[in-house]
Amino acid sequence: MRFKPVASLVSGQPTQDGNRVPLTRLVPGLGQRGDQAFRAMDPFLLMDHFGPMVLPPGTDAGFPPHPHRGFQTLTYLIQGAFRHRDSTGGSGLLRPGGAQLMNAGSGIVHEEMPVPEHLETGGAIEGVQLWINLPEAHKGSAPGYTDLQPESMPWQALPGGRIRVLAGTWAGIAGPAQTPAQIAYAHLELQPGARFEQAVPAGWLAAVVPLRGAVLVEGTAVAADTVALLGEGEALAVEIAVEAAEPASLMLLTGKPLGESIAHYGPFVMNTRVEIEQAVLDYQQGRMGHLD
Ligand code: MN
Repeated sequence: MRFKPVASLVSGQPTQDGNRVPLTRLVPGLGQRGDQAFRAMDPFLLMDHFGPMVLPPGTDAGFPPHPHRGFQTLTYLIQGAFRHRDSTGGSGLLRPGGAQLMNAGSGIVHEEMPVPEHLETGGAIEGVQLWINLPEAHKGSAPGYTDLQPESMPWQALPGGRIRVLAGTWAGIAGPAQTPAQIAYAHLELQPGARFEQAVPAGWLAAVVPLRGAVLVEGTAVAADTVALLGEGEALAVEIAVEAAEPASLMLLTGKPLGESIAHYGPFVMNTRVEIEQAVLDYQQGRMGHLD
């Protein structure tokens, strides 16, 4: 088996989004590093690691109402709690180990805010939000969201670690998230000295993203909050040094590139500039709905 080497390393950028939520922007996205980097992650558009952090008591940190069109968000919560409301009438509570798959499709307005307990007393929070592009044929699809409860994607033991599969199949385990783009996505924890291998279909993007602890990919060290984009090979292999001081926590990401043109502006990702102008107009004129 030929294992994929690291093709490039991209350090996450500390930033803020929403209402003063500190986060590390991992996948560049939204033109931050130019269209080249944007396209290099096809079919993924953006990946944010928020936390781990402790929200102060009386916080109003969160993501107040804002629109999206043309892609999907997959928000995975590691600790804390978030509540979601959207313009389709959907609402849900995100718990640790659970996720929410939102289809922005033709347009949605939503908010993601800490639960009332957090707002009053503060509390720890950590998670990862991934933006998955929609193929052109699905960009006009009906908006909506699906709660993926922790019970639908439990930790599964592996030699030297454990894995939680959110999408696609890893280690023979299928995850619950169904997306028009073909992807596979998992949270892996490895103990010092452990190694994990997974075959990846030819032509698919593959990336390894440690959230905590450092890992090795074919001899190249990959630090926390860094995206390692992998090169040619039949399989992904990630390991952690025997002498590592702490276990590693990392996200594994593979997907079949859409290969379509990308036009983006803020929270809208379409195929052409004209479609972006229409999205802005539709939002301004209230056609993406509103929160009650
Ligand atoms: Mn959002």
